[in-house]
Amino acid sequence: MKISMKAAIIVGLLAVIIGGIMLAQQAETAAAFANEKEAEAEEAERMQEKQKEDILTQADTLLQGYFYQEAIDLLKSDPTMISTATDDAITVKLAEIESASASLVKYEGPVQHIFFHSLIVYPELAFDNKGHPAKGYNMWMATVSEFKKILPALEKKGYVLYPLTEYIEPEPENPKNIRLKDIYLPPGKIPLVISIDDVNYYDYMKPDGFANRLVMGDDGRVWTEVITPEGKATLTRDGDVMPILDDYVEAHPGFSWRGAKGTLAITGYQGALGYRITDGLPQEAEWQRTVKKIADTMKADGWNFACHSYTHNSYFRDGSLTLKLIKHDTDRWIQKIEPFVGKTNIYISPFGVHFKKEDPRYRYLIEQGFRIYCPVSNERRITVNSDNVVMPRVNIDGYSMNFRRNELEKYYFDVSDVLDPMRPRLQ
Ligand SMILES: [Zn+2]
Repeated sequence: MKISMKAAIIVGLLAVIIGGIMLAQQAETAAAFANEKEAEAEEAERMQEKQKEDILTQADTLLQGYFYQEAIDLLKSDPTMISTATDDAITVKLAEIESASASLVKYEGPVQHIFFHSLIVYPELAFDNKGHPAKGYNMWMATVSEFKKILPALEKKGYVLYPLTEYIEPEPENPKNIRLKDIYLPPGKIPLVISIDDVNYYDYMKPDGFANRLVMGDDGRVWTEVITPEGKATLTRDGDVMPILDDYVEAHPGFSWRGAKGTLAITGYQGALGYRITDGLPQEAEWQRTVKKIADTMKADGWNFACHSYTHNSYFRDGSLTLKLIKHDTDRWIQKIEPFVGKTNIYISPFGVHFKKEDPRYRYLIEQGFRIYCPVSNERRITVNSDNVVMPRVNIDGYSMNFRRNELEKYYFDVSDVLDPMRPRLQ
């Protein structure tokens, strides 16, 4: 009995102790649970904070690139992110976007369209007078180093890349006719078209320090293939206007209206983009697919393509161009090049040639669907001819940088800041 009493007491005590321990453990578990919950809540809050920051950063990039509605939609995509506080970061950003979008003004100044040829990557090869005479390159081309200096200068002047196709629209009452479309930009900004002539990478240029062709990179971007002076083929981001401009706009979204880049003027007699797609060679079908892939990628990324004639023959400038010849030339471009770079309403004239608006040769081009005709001149205005417009373009090259310095300085950049010291003197 005594023993069992003791045992009972011990058992009882043990029970109390164990119970206590269990309670303590429970409490501890509960506390741990609460802590965990708190940590989870904190983590969730941190995550949301981070998400909010990301969305604000993305919205800001959209805003800089003039994607106003897209920025607003993004900020409003998750209402739980927006707090009721008046200084809530999203609320503040939304107001900033609304105000930027409301302050756009109609652009009324000169029409700015500048053009380049493919850039000289290795001036030491272009200006060595081996192969093609150095003087031609010196007159009509710019170098990579010059182009890289021109872009920030243009941005500083207020220029914004604007899509060439967005300058016109059909007349609502008579859709066969076209009219100029209003352009709205932030005050002080100037719409700019950049085009590149002859993005064909002709045989004669290959040994002279230009890119060899455009290439689709594994990263889905379009690169330049350049042959180094040592003869090694390498993919680069700065072998011509296109990748340089792509990278510049990525770093400076404010330089491009809604992702606009430029217009590539393509002939056909030696293929396109560095691929001989018009000679009946065995690899032709594969090269055609490549050109189409590159063109599609570029069009999705703000670029346009234009017809620059098929032959670029000297009969365009020496007065011997007949209606028959221009028909043959244009039809061939439409048949051999258009299927791969896509349908276009832009004609960038070879040698910058002009036509009178009633000229049957000009009318033939318009009847084939070309609506925007770009000769070379520094008038800086668009002429509307019922069903087409003429938009002259200004050459930026050794010639204009040497002989039209004041004009370039007035509108674009300080020539002495840009001119490549590798250029021989132009007389
Ligand atoms: Zn040309």
